Amino acid sequence: MARMMWIPDELLPGDGRFGSGPAKIRPEALDYLAMRSDIMGTSHRQPPVKQLVAAVQESLAELYRIPAGYEVVLGNGGSTLFWDMAVFSLIEQRSAHGVFGEFSRKFAKAATRAPHLADPAVFEAEAGSIALPDSPEADVHAWAQNETSTGAAAPVERRGSQDSLVLIDATSAAGGIDADIAETDVYYFAPQKNFSSDGGLWLAFASPDAIERAARLKAGGRYLPEILDFSIAVDNSRKNQTLNTPALATLLLLEDQLGWMLDLGGMDEVAARCRRSTQTLYDWAESRDFASPFVTDPEHRSPVVATIDIDEAIPVADLIAILRRNGIRDIDPYRALNRNQIRVGCYASVDPEDVAALTACIDHVVERL
Ligand SMILES: *Cc1c(COP(=O)(O)O)cnc(C)c1O
Repeated sequence: MARMMWIPDELLPGDGRFGSGPAKIRPEALDYLAMRSDIMGTSHRQPPVKQLVAAVQESLAELYRIPAGYEVVLGNGGSTLFWDMAVFSLIEQRSAHGVFGEFSRKFAKAATRAPHLADPAVFEAEAGSIALPDSPEADVHAWAQNETSTGAAAPVERRGSQDSLVLIDATSAAGGIDADIAETDVYYFAPQKNFSSDGGLWLAFASPDAIERAARLKAGGRYLPEILDFSIAVDNSRKNQTLNTPALATLLLLEDQLGWMLDLGGMDEVAARCRRSTQTLYDWAESRDFASPFVTDPEHRSPVVATIDIDEAIPVADLIAILRRNGIRDIDPYRALNRNQIRVGCYASVDPEDVAALTACIDHVVERL
């Protein structure tokens, strides 16, 4: 490892957490959590926790202005569980996937492995660009709004035949990028990214068509493990409940973050704040001869996760290690991508001024390496 180097205090960001997930939690949210001993350690079947779940559902619906008839559904297991739930409970015969990074690939793999489904149609693009699926035979079209592994963002719009459901993985987009929920049937996410909570939960905006599809597949007699049964999740969510015990701390942190986002002015303001942070990084990279944005098409550059290629002459592992020792954490590239790159989570809680400070710190270290 490179020799240690101390960055002057006046250059350092106020908060050095730039991870892409789990990501920075606002200190005020942690204070709020510590205050809620009326909830922590109490039964999730009693009214106070049901009220907490209801508050989260209502705030999410307000933040995304969800259309009439759509429901906020939640359960345990994070976004990864939701892929298997879709395989059991939402894909009828065949799905179509846009694959342009590790997360969108995982869902396509889950569908490929399922013995009860036909092989999916996979529309693939190289890391750093995007691919949208379009298959007349598919009954589900799926892709990620933001590919967290590469920092590429894709549009959210209806694809395929009229009967096809559109399933959007918004795990790192929700709460940082806006979307027209009417263009989707399930817009699903987890709270450890823009929502600055902890992991373990999945949440989704579900259309009446998606709810009807799940009910029909269940009635058709398909084998459905309870935890993967979307209809059971819908029934529980209507009662502000989950099938099994949720992490109450995750719900409390999420509740606090949603209140903060709505106070800030809602999705317009939150999205602008994230865009300001990532634009600072892209502009900085374009003005340095040792750095360049990994995603070449500016239209596809994520407004929440910026990936920046660094000249091979600068060993990025040393740069990242020095920054970490100085309190700047988790700007490592996605491991499977294997590039001389940094990846910076610019989620809602991250202060755009701290992102500007990060660029000054990188300049400082690179000059001395
Ligand atoms: C983080 C992430 C996931 C995985 O979320 P888990 O809650 O850990 O399962 C899935 N998709 C995307 C786009 C992500 O960013």
